[in-house]
Amino acid sequence: MTLHAGEAALTFLDDLRAALGARVSTAQADLLSHGRDEGYPDVLPPHAVVYAESEADVVATLRCAREHDVPVTPFGAGSGLEGNAVPVRGGISLDLTRMNRVLGIDAGSFLATVEPGVPYPELSRLARPHGLFFAVDPGADATLGGMAATGASGTAAVKYGTMRDNVVEMRVALLDGRVIRVGSRARKSSAGYDLLHLFVGSEGTLGVITRLTVKLHPLPARAASLQVSFPTVGDAVDAAVAVMGAGVGPQRIELVDADAIRAVNAYKGRADAEAPTLWIEVIGRDDADLRAQLDLVEELCEGSGGTVAGRAVTESEREKLWTARHHAYYALRAAYPGHANRTSDVCVPIAELPAVMEETRRLIGEAGLTAPIVGHVGDGNFHVLFHAAPDDADGWARINGVSDGMTRAALAAGGTCTGEHGVGVRKRKYLREEHGEALDVMREVKGLFDPAGLLNPGKIFE
Ligand SMILES: Cc1cc2nc3c(=O)[nH]c(=O)nc-3n(C[C@H](O)[C@H](O)[C@H](O)COP(=O)(O)OP(=O)(O)OC[C@H]3O[C@@H](n4cnc5c(N)ncnc54)[C@H](O)[C@@H]3O)c2cc1C
Repeated sequence: MTLHAGEAALTFLDDLRAALGARVSTAQADLLSHGRDEGYPDVLPPHAVVYAESEADVVATLRCAREHDVPVTPFGAGSGLEGNAVPVRGGISLDLTRMNRVLGIDAGSFLATVEPGVPYPELSRLARPHGLFFAVDPGADATLGGMAATGASGTAAVKYGTMRDNVVEMRVALLDGRVIRVGSRARKSSAGYDLLHLFVGSEGTLGVITRLTVKLHPLPARAASLQVSFPTVGDAVDAAVAVMGAGVGPQRIELVDADAIRAVNAYKGRADAEAPTLWIEVIGRDDADLRAQLDLVEELCEGSGGTVAGRAVTESEREKLWTARHHAYYALRAAYPGHANRTSDVCVPIAELPAVMEETRRLIGEAGLTAPIVGHVGDGNFHVLFHAAPDDADGWARINGVSDGMTRAALAAGGTCTGEHGVGVRKRKYLREEHGEALDVMREVKGLFDPAGLLNPGKIFE
């Protein structure tokens, strides 16, 4: 592809502009803002950005990419942490954020149909008057299309599942010009191969999601949160495992370690105990049910050495209590201005969590790093938030070493190299170890949908 000079570039851009007019941009600011995501260190601008406003725009963009042999990378909010939407081979960045209409809320069936560029908090806001909410909540203002494409989850996945469990139907534009509907509005189906879940988590490498129907859930009648601090990360994880084992079914169970609390205290002017801390949220039918669950959770936490630091029942109290969990990422960024960040995400069977987290802490200590751990521990999923000055080669070498060590520890424990952030660029090297021969089958599937390798090339596969 010779897009910078010569006729090829001219023909490609002329064709794109003829089809999409002012929705095509080659302005420097647009190219730069689409050459990055939240977690990838390099800015690799595309040659053009298309701001799709309809499914027809997506189809036209894919036609142009196919006919001119130009890569195309879908782009949602760009909040990915693994370089997922970074157009590493240039070409077109296909921005879906203008396709941002909520097309319908079917409260009777607990479903909503949306365009891919709708940010998930917007869907929850619109569902609220119906007594419903959308349950998948990654920390950033991600789009529902981007979330489906990464198989995202969040703090409430322990109760409501991930995007895989919450998308029931999608429309997907394929590179060959077809637009297919996958899944259905029914709660379950045995009708043939499950193409819906093939596209969920495919990171824009198989097709472009142009419409989604997702599940909504009733707003809980009563909810309450506990904040409990522990002597060690191991004690906190033991308590989380005990709570899960007791069948309480918490709505959220999240861990933040002492380093993260320290950063949030400085960032938000708080005075939380700088110790590994669990946040646990339970929901109940009535006050008595709620109290019984809270008492049981407290007893289990205290049995693992925990000290209750706060109890919150009203929505505003709960929001305040959860501050340190919600602000950990941005607090860390504020604590080290000028540093670049990297988040590593792994997920293991829950019984293996204490050992894998302990090993990760050991690796962090051995490398002499300050790298907070936060985790959706109820799912066996945790993240390490690394940071270093961009030119600190030694620091980045140590970070890469720890990230590699924790990922291999997760795989050895029967886990996965990414619970929710996707493969993107950096996790590609672990897929052979994780999937063995199944990786070859995945490549064959990719070849079926994208024989020329134009859809988000350089991702998932090395
Ligand atoms: C502070 C912070 C906290 C986070 N917490 C979480 C968390 O708790 N859980 C979690 O899962 N993630 C988390 N993330 C990561 C991120 O928010 C998710 O990966 C999210 O799903 C990305 O959505 P997006 O709209 O930003 O997509 P983008 O980053 O723009 O794109 C992500 C991928 O999806 C593809 N894509 C985008 N739209 C489409 C489409 N319509 N069709 C096909 N492919 C498409 C892109 O090509 C790319 O491969 C966090 C990020 C930050 C910055």
